[in-house]
Amino acid sequence: KAKGMGKNQYCVYDETMGSREVRRMELEKDLHRALEHNQFFVVYQPKWNVKTNSLFGFEALIRWDHPRLGVVSPVEFISIAEETGFIVPMTRWTLAEACRQCKSWQEAGLVQPVSVNLSIRLFQSGSLHELVQGALDKAGLDPHLLELEITESMVLHDINDIVRQLQAIRAMGVRVSMDDFGTGYSSIGLLDRIPIDALKLDKLFTNDLVTPSKRAIINAIVLMAETLNLEVIAEGVENEEHIRFLTQLGCTVMQGYYYGRPMKTDEVGEWLKKPPAGGSVEVS
Ligand code: C2E
Ligand code: MG
Ligand code: MG
Ligand code: MG
Repeated sequence: KAKGMGKNQYCVYDETMGSREVRRMELEKDLHRALEHNQFFVVYQPKWNVKTNSLFGFEALIRWDHPRLGVVSPVEFISIAEETGFIVPMTRWTLAEACRQCKSWQEAGLVQPVSVNLSIRLFQSGSLHELVQGALDKAGLDPHLLELEITESMVLHDINDIVRQLQAIRAMGVRVSMDDFGTGYSSIGLLDRIPIDALKLDKLFTNDLVTPSKRAIINAIVLMAETLNLEVIAEGVENEEHIRFLTQLGCTVMQGYYYGRPMKTDEVGEWLKKPPAGGSVEVS
């Protein structure tokens, strides 16, 4: 039996379990209290427009500062949060925090959109519209400064329902982008039905730019996106070779460690003082 657990909580494990499973159980046990204990924080990663050489916006990414394990990546705890349903209150918090931060940047003269990642669970919760409206109202944020990132695999679920919810969200003025595009289940045949503003090319493509066939696929995606009036944002841009290839292929907006890591807000402040590629960030 595991020690140090709350009342009525049992966590039985034996020697055959790997340390990964033990870690997951610990995360699972602690996650539902992370909100009340203020253990979450949000980091912001810049998106860069290479055509205008200027800032394009930020993506909000959640982090969990676990008292014993240190900072835990969302890759580890989002799936747990989805299983338990905790993803809904967690996203409410992230949305509120991102909207508040965006408003505060706007008041300081840095007018840039912030995007927040959404899990399919939010669409199934029946409260997404209210949640987004609530976050905007509470922060007093212009809806045009908020963007929501959804994933391709969502369209495997009730597509008509998801389209309806996305339409309602976009009617508010909030933008929507499709994250990790090109991985997992292809939604290409449905792209003309899903109301979105941008495609985010998964970093797997960026990692594989030296392969001519991969470049051909990116090229086709970019051409298709132009016809459908969608912005293309390349993820995982880490070096100048990536930028050279992606620019050749017609990508204009990039996100990745080359331009900036996901940063706490005080680090964003430092980053803004010396923007990449001698570019501009338009702080008035
Ligand atoms: P994502 O939305 O596709 O976010 C991009 C991920 O790639 C981030 O990992 C980011 O730190 C990482 N990344 C950015 N630039 C580079 C690069 O140049 N090279 C490499 N190797 N990686 C780069 P992170 O922050 O660990 O987030 C992982 C995923 O967790 C996100 O993928 C997103 O799907 C999910 N996630 C993060 N925050 C939230 C949230 O608040 N809600 C939900 N539902 N999911 C979230
Ligand atoms: Mg994302
Ligand atoms: Mg992404
Ligand atoms: Mg990704």
